[in-house]
Amino acid sequence: MSTPRHPKGLYLIFATSTAERFSYYGMRAIFILFLTQALLFDKEAATSIYGSYTGLVYLAPLLGGYIADKYWGIRRSIFWGAILMTIGQFLMFFSASTLHQPALSHSLMYGGLGFLILGNGCFKPTVSAVIGQLYEPGDSRLDSAYTIFYMGVNVGSFFAPIVCGFFGETGRPEDFKWGFLVAALVTVLTVIIFQTQKNKYLVSPTGESIGIIPDARRRDAQAPAPKAAATPRKSRRTRFLMVLQSLFWISLFTYLFPDAWVSICIYSACLIIPIGLIMADSLTRIHRERILVIYIIAFFVIFFWAAYEQAGASLTLFASEQTERHLLGWEVPASWFQSLNAIMIVILAALMPAVWTFLNRRHLEPASPTKQAIGLLLLSLGYLFISFGVQGLQPGVKVSMLWLVGLYFIHTLGEITLSPIGLSMVNKLTPIRFASLMMGVWYMSTATANKFAGMLGGLYPEEGKVKSLLGYQIETLHDFFMVFVVMSAVASLILFLLTKKLQKMMHGVV
Ligand code: GLN
Repeated sequence: MSTPRHPKGLYLIFATSTAERFSYYGMRAIFILFLTQALLFDKEAATSIYGSYTGLVYLAPLLGGYIADKYWGIRRSIFWGAILMTIGQFLMFFSASTLHQPALSHSLMYGGLGFLILGNGCFKPTVSAVIGQLYEPGDSRLDSAYTIFYMGVNVGSFFAPIVCGFFGETGRPEDFKWGFLVAALVTVLTVIIFQTQKNKYLVSPTGESIGIIPDARRRDAQAPAPKAAATPRKSRRTRFLMVLQSLFWISLFTYLFPDAWVSICIYSACLIIPIGLIMADSLTRIHRERILVIYIIAFFVIFFWAAYEQAGASLTLFASEQTERHLLGWEVPASWFQSLNAIMIVILAALMPAVWTFLNRRHLEPASPTKQAIGLLLLSLGYLFISFGVQGLQPGVKVSMLWLVGLYFIHTLGEITLSPIGLSMVNKLTPIRFASLMMGVWYMSTATANKFAGMLGGLYPEEGKVKSLLGYQIETLHDFFMVFVVMSAVASLILFLLTKKLQKMMHGVV
């Protein structure tokens, strides 16, 4: 079952992403603890800042993807993305170094988050889109290429919480800065790896350099003939509809979430841009239907990441407060639990291509939309598992860490079934001139999910506070976890029912 070799450019993207994700997840692992223990935010405010940050981090790829496709090209976007993130990480370090001046340290923290958001916006969609350009269209190695990329992402995410947690989470608030400094130094490494190696390895199958000028323009000649140019009247109508729908969504979300500008921005952008894109006059019917499939699946994937992303916030609080973490006389830091998911991904990413090939040979391999539904179902099962562990648990009492380990294992199975396959699917379904932008659209579901995750994380039970969701009272951890069981199970079921229809709309892409 030997698989053909992959282009060397894939391994450059692997290394660059390993370093970049190390800094992202390293900072993130200690961020919620930094907010609550050093900057002294209460849990609700801290989870909300955390949710806004992780939400905007994944909204920015929309802007970054647009700039890359239209003006900069992928190489420049990756480079500037890494530079902006470096500045952001150093600002976090300075914030944690000035705790004795709370106003300054708060401002530096917000500034740092701003740079990290913009940097991620330039980096993440482009690094994900360039993989597809290393292969000929229709190359069957694409799913496994994205799974290898995903492994690289997780090598970084595995070491990050351990190393940054080791230096930053010592129990002394003034030590957080060391965790941030490590993350900052690794972003410098990201810039160095990419800048020194890109000319050698970022080449197309035919040997031309990729990512220098927007590839869309360069490859236009090979693209299927575009539809006849829109008449001025038609494009005026399209522009008018665009303005109209923008006003509608912004007003609706301003009404629903008064003053919550991050939510208004994220939710409006998530509707305005995709609807605008699908209205583009140059799209053929087949492309339009394929893009519609991406949107429908991206919508369901929101529920996956909203439940999954509890890892950084509420599940870290759970690990910190209600999990017995002693192992051979030593207490495992709470932030280390996030590394579990990453190491499991690395192992599963090595196994999964063989599993899919095995099933494929027996005509049993599920199509991409079905894999997304299975991923969601596994997420629900993970929360069902832990809900048994916390049944009847009193505040302050601790449970075995096996519950959290089991939850992460089931979630990881779900993630490897859903996430890399989703990226590969987006690449296969998208016309080349929108490659980075559509990755941005795909990551928008993570943006919405992260914001939503922050809101849901705020439901984490706290003594003396009454919390509820749609009339459902949340008093215990069991009640809290059941929210995620039900949410992901319902989303999975509906997606299962839609898979046949979605496959038809993919017009031959699997
Ligand atoms: N772990 C993945 C990454 O960091 C998750 C991406 C996502 O879509 N949420 O790339």
